[in-house]
Amino acid sequence: MPNIPLAKRNFPAQIPLGKRDLPEGPATYVARVGIGHDTHRLRPGGPIRLGGIDIPSDSEMVGHSDADVLLHAVTDALLGAAGLGDIGEMFPDTAAENRGRDSAEMLRVAKRAITVAGWEIANLDCIVHAERPKLGPLKQVIRGRLAEILEIAPEQVSVKAKTGERVGPVGRQEAIEAQCVASLCTKSSPAAETSCITPDHPKSP
Ligand SMILES: [Zn+2]
Repeated sequence: MPNIPLAKRNFPAQIPLGKRDLPEGPATYVARVGIGHDTHRLRPGGPIRLGGIDIPSDSEMVGHSDADVLLHAVTDALLGAAGLGDIGEMFPDTAAENRGRDSAEMLRVAKRAITVAGWEIANLDCIVHAERPKLGPLKQVIRGRLAEILEIAPEQVSVKAKTGERVGPVGRQEAIEAQCVASLCTKSSPAAETSCITPDHPKSP
């Protein structure tokens, strides 16, 4: 943005909250936000399963399932936004069927649960904290894979990557962490004609 003094910028009119008209008619929607966080330890081996893709590495993540730390954070964010509990309740790590389980498949199960509950995914914003592998070149690949698993448009997904600045468990390459915020929406009534997904970001066909 050019350097225009604040007072001269053309901001949209701000209406005080209490003076806003309530939306008329049925064309409204309801939104919810959820947060997910996960950590998995690293051990020698490879590859690293992250965001539903296998990344060549001389270390791998430790976990009961395939230990996909990003998909676990996404799953928790979606379940949390819908008020449907968490990944540990849906897929207990004491259950034999969850040993080595594909986290993409678990995420699809969670997506079905939120869909049955009436919710659509508006967007996801995720951060992966990893010293290595360097994720910069892979962010778009992971973004596309997340969109594919969830059957939404890549524009509805954001994947960011941070290092641990060589301190803490992430910085010492002992662990990888992931965080995700998910926004869900639903029509306010079955009669509502508008989608709660913005027209610029329609669902993938
Ligand atoms: Zn996990």
